[in-house]
Amino acid sequence: MNNGKLNLDSAQAVLDEHRETLDRFSELLIAENQKYNLTRIDSPEQVWVRHFLDSLAGLSVLDELSKKTGKPLKILDIGSGAGFPGLVLAIVRPVWQVTSLEATEKKVKFQKMVCDTLGLKNTTTLNGRAEAVAHHAAYRQRFDVVTARALAPMPVLAELSLGFVKIGGLGLYWKGPSVKEELQTAQAAIKQMGAKIENSLSYTLQTEDAKPAKLSLVICKKVNAMPKQYPRVYGIIKKKPLA
Ligand code: SAH
Repeated sequence: MNNGKLNLDSAQAVLDEHRETLDRFSELLIAENQKYNLTRIDSPEQVWVRHFLDSLAGLSVLDELSKKTGKPLKILDIGSGAGFPGLVLAIVRPVWQVTSLEATEKKVKFQKMVCDTLGLKNTTTLNGRAEAVAHHAAYRQRFDVVTARALAPMPVLAELSLGFVKIGGLGLYWKGPSVKEELQTAQAAIKQMGAKIENSLSYTLQTEDAKPAKLSLVICKKVNAMPKQYPRVYGIIKKKPLA
């Protein structure tokens, strides 16, 4: 496993190219936030950095994979909430297909409204739970990449997400600063789910009105099929997380 630093300068430049669309997304998020209780982050600058720029923390890794496969990527974003990182990735890379899976109906409604208003043609929104959807043949091992931000601790994340990924594909996880220990304890669980930790990259998000946020992006590579009995039902996953 490598431990590197992530530079977000090029991600910032990509965001700037899509400023008009993203400003409309930001306005919708701030306007609808009270109604839907979508996010704690509610100033335009915070939305830009903590949601939009952060969503692109994985962009260089994804661009590289897309170059390698020579095809537009098929991405599944699990527990996407108000659409992060999935909808931002869909906006900046319109040839990729992004499916956004979210358990809470009102959040899916918000995402649909955003996709309609912004005229996004490469997104599918899905209201459901990862541990159930992962057993459907149409979704099992069908995606180049699965993404998840702020969803669950690593062993739970591995179980919820890796069944969706094709062999050779990636799991990309947006994490906080203290990922080292979490990864060490999760190594066996990730292996059991058919993957290995490939890299962990740290980065900092800086805004004027808040303390710098120290974050990391974890990259797992799917090397084997995930055993059929996984993921288990959520109650069991929580009660008996993979060791
Ligand atoms: N990724 C978004 C939201 C994080 S909050 C962001 O970073 O802003 C976690 C979200 O995951 C919540 O909206 C919750 O409803 C959803 N969620 C939790 N467990 C889930 C599951 N098993 N399947 C699908 N969605 C789930």
